[in-house]
Amino acid sequence: MSAPGSRTRVGKYELGKTLGEGSFAKVKFARDVQTGDAVAIKILHKDQVLRHKMVEQIKREISTMKLIKHPNVVQLYEVMASKTKIYMVVEFVDGGELFDKIVSSGRLKEEEARRYFQQIINAVDYCHSRGVYHRDLKPENLLLDSYGVLKVSDFGLSAFAPQIKEDGLLHTACGTPNYVAPEVLNDKGYDGKASDVWSCGVILFVLMAGYLPFDEPGLPALYKKICQANFVCPSWFSAGAKKLIKRILDPNPNMRITIPEILEDEWFKKNYKPPSFEHGEDVSLDDVDAVFNDSEEHLVTEKKEKPESMNAFALISRSQGFNLGNLFEKQNGVVRRETSFSSKCPPNEIMSKIEEAARPLGFSVRKHNYKMKLQGGKTGRKGHLSVATEVFEVAPSLHMVELRKTGGDTLEFHKFYKSFSSGLKDVVWKSEAITEEK
Ligand code: ADP
Ligand code: MG
Repeated sequence: MSAPGSRTRVGKYELGKTLGEGSFAKVKFARDVQTGDAVAIKILHKDQVLRHKMVEQIKREISTMKLIKHPNVVQLYEVMASKTKIYMVVEFVDGGELFDKIVSSGRLKEEEARRYFQQIINAVDYCHSRGVYHRDLKPENLLLDSYGVLKVSDFGLSAFAPQIKEDGLLHTACGTPNYVAPEVLNDKGYDGKASDVWSCGVILFVLMAGYLPFDEPGLPALYKKICQANFVCPSWFSAGAKKLIKRILDPNPNMRITIPEILEDEWFKKNYKPPSFEHGEDVSLDDVDAVFNDSEEHLVTEKKEKPESMNAFALISRSQGFNLGNLFEKQNGVVRRETSFSSKCPPNEIMSKIEEAARPLGFSVRKHNYKMKLQGGKTGRKGHLSVATEVFEVAPSLHMVELRKTGGDTLEFHKFYKSFSSGLKDVVWKSEAITEEK
């Protein structure tokens, strides 16, 4: 157990808290120590991503992404490598995920859904025109900035994602295949453009419906639905929206509507403003070359600076604002996916209470010192949920527990969290002060 707050430097960046964890990368907040600018850094393990012979493709896509500067695409600033890791320094987007809005306030009005959809299409169209495909468009990759502008993240990074094949079915490494096109599931070799368009269609449906077009508890049934494009639009969709969605969710990629055709669609065109942006100026690709050419010369190292000692008061006041109940309450309009609480129980008891609360929900538990990973079973959509927890000692009889969603469907996580937190009521320390503050 160590107090949080030890500082780590990589190159000119000081790493901060973890913003999220995907299937193959961890995303951390960081600051450029020279300018004070906030960035996000995606950290990947070299041996996990560079094993397969995709280095050339990855290098090409990363180079292109460095040249792209589009208002609806999360910008890639720089790449660095250490002996074992790759660091992708990207624009920090601070308004949360688009789907947090659906979790907190339900489906969007058609007008609002269209505004986001137009921005997604702009981003996808632009990257396609540069020869970069997304291949993993899903809610977790749609972020909002503080002005409410949508930014698509992870463009060109899909080549990093390991795709696991089990029982002849493709399991996208993290989460579910809900957004994946039929031809990708069938693995018949596919066109990146058409399959990205499909995913945009699923996203549009969810924005306006508040639920998925294809949703089955078991993978084989889900595959069947997707491959037949077996879905029903709810009655509140306008005729124009229904027509467009039907043209997008066409199981035959050759018949599916293309982006130039979407741009001409009447429903799409309503209140459409084409994006305005500058082209990337003199961008250097030296960093990309260094990372992918395996030169020892430019390697960075993670340097731990002296742990900053945080006293008990600072820690408690940090966690007092939080408690289990507010994970999904909005703070500055954003739903948190992370929370912490204080407990007067001994750490072992805290750990076993967490375990007891998670097991009946079908989660397996892996413990490592005072960290735990809760992982859902393999079947069904819930199966892909994962949660990370860690216990910190504040004082001999006072502990702080941090909980973070590290993977899985945001909507599913919401449901899980409700039952989970009621199982933990006994270990959470609530002083009068905290209760009053709420
Ligand atoms: P995923 O496979 O779910 O896309 P990622 O590793 O890309 O996983 O990101 C995990 C989470 O980290 C995201 O869902 C998002 O909440 C957060 N995140 C990713 N990129 C950024 C960014 N540029 N700014 C802020 N938060 C981010
Ligand atoms: Mg992502």
